[in-house]
Amino acid sequence: MGALEQNLEKLNRYLDQFKKSGVMNRVAGNDVAGSAGVFQSTSPVDKSIICDVAHGTAADIDAAANSAAQAFAGWRDTPATERRKILISVAEAIEARAEEIALCECWDTGQALRFMSKAALRGAENFRYFADQVVQARDGQHLKSPTLMNVTSRVPIGPVGVITPWNTPFMLSTWKIAPALAAGCTVVHKPAESSPLTARLLVEIAEEAGLPPGVLNTINGFGEEAGKALCEHPLIKAIAFVGESRTGSLIVRQGADTLKRNHLELGGKNPVIVFDDADLERALDAVIFMIYSINGERCTSSSRLLIHNTIREEFEAKLVERVNKIKVGHPLDPATEIGPLVNEEHYNKVTSYFDIAREEATIAAGGESLGDDGYFVKPTLFTNANNTMRIAREEIFGPVLTSIPFSTEDEALAIANDTAYGLTGYVWTSDLTRALRFTDRLEAGMIWVNSENVRHLPTPFGGVKSSGIGRDGGDWSFDFYMEQKHIGFATGQHKIARLGT
Ligand code: NAD
Repeated sequence: MGALEQNLEKLNRYLDQFKKSGVMNRVAGNDVAGSAGVFQSTSPVDKSIICDVAHGTAADIDAAANSAAQAFAGWRDTPATERRKILISVAEAIEARAEEIALCECWDTGQALRFMSKAALRGAENFRYFADQVVQARDGQHLKSPTLMNVTSRVPIGPVGVITPWNTPFMLSTWKIAPALAAGCTVVHKPAESSPLTARLLVEIAEEAGLPPGVLNTINGFGEEAGKALCEHPLIKAIAFVGESRTGSLIVRQGADTLKRNHLELGGKNPVIVFDDADLERALDAVIFMIYSINGERCTSSSRLLIHNTIREEFEAKLVERVNKIKVGHPLDPATEIGPLVNEEHYNKVTSYFDIAREEATIAAGGESLGDDGYFVKPTLFTNANNTMRIAREEIFGPVLTSIPFSTEDEALAIANDTAYGLTGYVWTSDLTRALRFTDRLEAGMIWVNSENVRHLPTPFGGVKSSGIGRDGGDWSFDFYMEQKHIGFATGQHKIARLGT
């Protein structure tokens, strides 16, 4: 039996529980049906129905928010060392079930196993990293003044809502949920409707590892129903959101009446700028990796290639050769580099840009779908483009790269910054002074020089402009999930102004 067949056999064993009972909501440690019945989850690989999913609405969100509110004091007051131990156990339990998480995620989202096996382990790493911060998270400063000993401390903000998208959903959920739990918050998680399986595995794993019931609650449902209700719920103190920029605006609007604190990680149209003095072989590898890995369904993908016109012809020729060789196939085949797009709606969106490009520019590679069995598309490269075109301005969120030439550093910078977004930027040059100058003026929350995106958990992650508000990572995560508190203690009998005497 080949590796693909073996993986399929294992997947079928793992899917058994979902086929039998569907994906249930989880509230206060109990499986709960959706108050609006069920919706169905389908696999983008062959369009087959995977299982029923609880269809939660405002009533289910209300139950989950109440559960999170009831569990809050207990979790907040659990000694830090104990909470740390529990979060480490969650990390270990994720590692123990990494294969199950990876296979289910691939089947649910169409992502290739070669990337998703690492995503499950990165989820465990997120728990481990934030577990190690639990003990210091509430520490503060003492800021002595002439009459007072002023001290600060941090306290968890309360029950929070976490709303996640369908791209690498397990890893992204842990990226939000782990720091929230480490801070001492309780959570209501609303996963994306297109990727419910691993969100269910996460709450199951966390409770089995010792997370008390009600500390993490999971409600499946649609954004405009369950997601909206979560943003509006008065018991929920903050919303950590990852998704599209236009949904981010709705999150802010929906939370206005209850004065929600929002953390928004949104879309991108990220530039990779390749100057003619760069190490072109490494730049080529990185350009390809950052748009064609993870199906290009990645917020940090470098979807705009800004290429120095002196090397453009040669670089694009090499690009075409490599892009045409990228292996599109079954996500559970270890050789596969690109799997199908997540669902029909997204497939229609991505393929619509093939028609747009045909009118606006040149399709140098791909630009076609692959068969009708699943939502497969060929990795695609658009050339002869300029930055005013829709293919250069709109987030396509698929394995689709738009190449735009430039002739001077100033022109490259102007093109790079001429976008509504500002999540990441990638700069390839061997001129250090240019790199310093360029990165200083590049409008992006995260920039890598002579490197693809290599995540380091203590560094700040987030975007500027329409790519988001707020930062994750290191202590920045705790700034969001905790409140700063100041207490001043009089150190003597200082003079208090006397009124009404
Ligand atoms: P989406 O905005 O459509 O959905 C994300 C989540 O929001 C889902 O759970 C959805 O149900 C929910 N939602 C939708 N409408 C809502 C509403 N009115 N109120 C509350 N919740 C609502 O995004 P998507 O299509 O699932 O994901 C892809 C997008 O996510 C891309 O734009 C991508 O760039 C972005 N993304 C950003 C980052 C980042 O870190 N900046 C990371 C991953 C993905």
